[in-house]
Amino acid sequence: MGEGHEGLAALPLGRSWVGVNSRRDPTARSHPQPTSPSPLRGQGCVSTLATITPGEPEIFVALQGEGPSAGQPCAFVRLSRCNLACVWCDTAYTWRFESDTRPHRDGINFDRSDNQFVLAEPDVAERIGALGQKRLVVTGGEPLLQAAALARMLALLPPMTVEIETNGTISPPSTFDRRVAQYNVSPKLAHSGNPAALALLPDRLARWAAEPRAFFKFVIAEPADLAEVLELRDRFALPPERIFLMPEGRNSGTLRTRAVWLSELCSKYEFNLSDRLHIYSHGDTRGT
Ligand code: SF4
Repeated sequence: MGEGHEGLAALPLGRSWVGVNSRRDPTARSHPQPTSPSPLRGQGCVSTLATITPGEPEIFVALQGEGPSAGQPCAFVRLSRCNLACVWCDTAYTWRFESDTRPHRDGINFDRSDNQFVLAEPDVAERIGALGQKRLVVTGGEPLLQAAALARMLALLPPMTVEIETNGTISPPSTFDRRVAQYNVSPKLAHSGNPAALALLPDRLARWAAEPRAFFKFVIAEPADLAEVLELRDRFALPPERIFLMPEGRNSGTLRTRAVWLSELCSKYEFNLSDRLHIYSHGDTRGT
């Protein structure tokens, strides 16, 4: 899930569809030869993925850049579409398509056909398995919008630890919940621009609070944002050891500056600090 839902350092694996550092510029029309998707294996058994470049699904190897698994090598798959619209979202290419007028600081409308890639679930699982990683991060967009397809895909994976990134507004179905080792839940605060009625659903937050596999990653832009975190902590009894504060920012300078006062707040409230490691090494790019 956006804010980043991204990892560090795409590792070249010599496969055309493995992550490369391509710019996020939607006007870049230097289309590579599209990766040929296998024929869809069965009606309805498809997932809609984000793309690194048009025709290249966003499946890649990187180090997890954020949250409790930061620094670990992982396979990543990024799904398209989101049910929220954060003004600072760094993966707006997963949801802000033509005619979407919801506010976003970049103000870009992305071409849907260039930024989505439909792939049969067996093919998604096969491509992930071929990366040879022990850990998978499923990110977005909001991956749980495609929970049914995701459940079918996860069932086809080789043994690996599965981590799901979500904005916390959708409850996972039991069909894939048993396959998941960790949820990185990132509830969106008021500065995201989303109405609380959409972003902070009490029954969902209560469920995540009771889920020991769930870690809460709050994106923080200003020290004043902390008041909302404390209110949610108290209201839903969020364990501080499962709370991460992460600076909002898409460049190293912003992250460093915000990490200074965020680290003090983490010490004071016994929260964890999450960095965004991939920004230091790759900047704000896809497939990293
Ligand atoms: S919840 Fe959706 S809009 Fe918000 S940061 Fe994540 S992907 Fe972007």
